[in-house]
Amino acid sequence: MTPGNPTKPDEPASPGAEGPAPPRRDSFQLANLARSRFRSRFGLSGADRAYVARTGWETLRAQAEKIVRERLAPARPRNDGRQTHMRGHPVFLAQHATATCCRGCLPKWHGLPPGRPLSDAEVARVVDFLLAWIREKAGDLSGFPVQTALPI
Ligand SMILES: [Zn+2]
Repeated sequence: MTPGNPTKPDEPASPGAEGPAPPRRDSFQLANLARSRFRSRFGLSGADRAYVARTGWETLRAQAEKIVRERLAPARPRNDGRQTHMRGHPVFLAQHATATCCRGCLPKWHGLPPGRPLSDAEVARVVDFLLAWIREKAGDLSGFPVQTALPI
């Protein structure tokens, strides 16, 4: 096998494209994900949004990190491909919507190779991505009761 491309690994796909700044080279493939019918059908229910409001972003981030570290970050996660439920926690929904549900989806959509643990930086990147999706889908939460000091 010959390395096909000795020059620049990645040029922006559409040099003359208008609109917002092009995504960074290492950014997740949000646009592609949005085009996936399976991925884009995920959203947050009223109960999910109430949970997010009640829980608060800091706790939610900690929960997302715990889920990612336990279920996704190991080189060979338990039950890989089936470890992310279709409901039960907004982070699970976000994982399906963003293709960060299993180690089979990570290489395909995010270029993170299987068979080795995720680095701390990669875990942080996945968590950021999950939180961004939840924030977007949660929308305006001001109508929900907020519990600021929630014990973990
Ligand atoms: Zn998956």
